[in-house]
Amino acid sequence: MIVLKDNKAVVISIIIFCVLFACAVTFVNIYVGNQRNIALEKAHYLTEANVSELDRALGSYMQATDTLRILLVDSNGEINNFDRVARELYNNDPAFRSIQLAPAGNVQYVYPLAGNEEAFGDIFDDPDRRAEAEYARDTGETTLAGPFELYQGGLGIVIRQPIYLGGDDNRKFWGFSIAVLNVPEIFTSVKLSSLEKLGYVYQLWRIHPDTGKKQIIMGDADGELLEPVETSFDVPGNKWTLSIAYKNGWIDYKDVKILSVSLFLVVLLIPVLCYALLKINAQRLQMIDISNHDHLTSLYNGRKLFKLLQSLTEANKRFSLIYLDIDKFKAVNDTYGHLAGDELLKVIADRILPFAKAAEDYAFRIGGDEFVLLIQSNQNIEILLASLQKELSREVVLSGKFSYLPKFSVGYANYPENGRTFEDIISIADKKMYYMKCKSEKNQN
Ligand code: GH3
Ligand code: MG
Repeated sequence: MIVLKDNKAVVISIIIFCVLFACAVTFVNIYVGNQRNIALEKAHYLTEANVSELDRALGSYMQATDTLRILLVDSNGEINNFDRVARELYNNDPAFRSIQLAPAGNVQYVYPLAGNEEAFGDIFDDPDRRAEAEYARDTGETTLAGPFELYQGGLGIVIRQPIYLGGDDNRKFWGFSIAVLNVPEIFTSVKLSSLEKLGYVYQLWRIHPDTGKKQIIMGDADGELLEPVETSFDVPGNKWTLSIAYKNGWIDYKDVKILSVSLFLVVLLIPVLCYALLKINAQRLQMIDISNHDHLTSLYNGRKLFKLLQSLTEANKRFSLIYLDIDKFKAVNDTYGHLAGDELLKVIADRILPFAKAAEDYAFRIGGDEFVLLIQSNQNIEILLASLQKELSREVVLSGKFSYLPKFSVGYANYPENGRTFEDIISIADKKMYYMKCKSEKNQN
């Protein structure tokens, strides 16, 4: 307990440090969580927005095969002005590799011809394309193949739309309208590169239907992204996914580091300041304590008595003041020496102190051989005086060899019965004490 009291400032500072540290850790955790959520939310929004752009871009190129289909159905399967129509659709858009028509699955019309000579031939004869072509023919669904390395070189996707003539009852397979598209040029309008400018890495990918493995169509080709945000969208016969992530994860640890270091400094500084303030305050209290005590006996001194009496009378609180003076104390000094006199004063102080045991009672040495007891507790003063006299008059052995029987003169006064001011009370107690001293001197003579 004493150790705790002595180190009060240290203990309080450590507690403040621990509490602040816990708060700072919680705050950093909340901050990190929030930053992560904000970053994830933004990433979700960006993937959604980009995916709908990708979908739209792909859809717009798929329109080319549909336009050819409509024209062919219109002309009942007659191919009129293929080059002109294809040129219109092609429109020198670098996203188009070629536009083709394959009556009965045999590619016979290709625009532009230059660079696409390899495209001619029967799709149903090609083991790589047969299964997919048969599926398109039999289901009527447009297929999207790829991306893969094209015969003509480069990465592309192939959109094949089956065309049927006749009504629903006697519909007859005519062949395919085909668009071969360049990757990544078909997505130029989507501006996925702007994701990189925002600090993201991205992958547009699909699960390859043959290998069952992830195939990256566009974007960061090196390995897996860190905790990616993903949005998928349907393409004919498959599903494509756009994944985006920050290279180093969703939290900017540079910010977190700066925040943590700043908070740690504050967390450290506040307890240090508290420690300094508590120490200064403890020293101030110690100074006050010293200034209120008698250095020889450690009892309270006259200064403290004055302050207490002032506050008690101001608050109109009742008390009794007992005044004590050792008889013939000078003789002790003269006979046994000043140190023996000091010794006697200390013994008397030790004997007086237990009479001020109650929290509201006080014992003082107000100077020389004069002592005061200030009693606020509910006690019979006459009884207290009798036991006080008895206790103080017991034998004292001075300097370890001189037996001495101290004698006292005592006087007391009660507030407010005996006086309205504390000066009155002191004066009455002093007078009573003096009266007793005179009486005892007379008796001795
Ligand atoms: P009386 O019976 O009338 O009370 O006379 P007394 O001899 O007790 O003397 P008085 O009370 O008038 O004076 C107290 C003396 O105490 C005066 C001084 O020499 C002595 N004294 C004051 N302070 C100290 C102290 O700190 N130590 C010692 N040893 N003596 C002190
Ligand atoms: Mg005296």
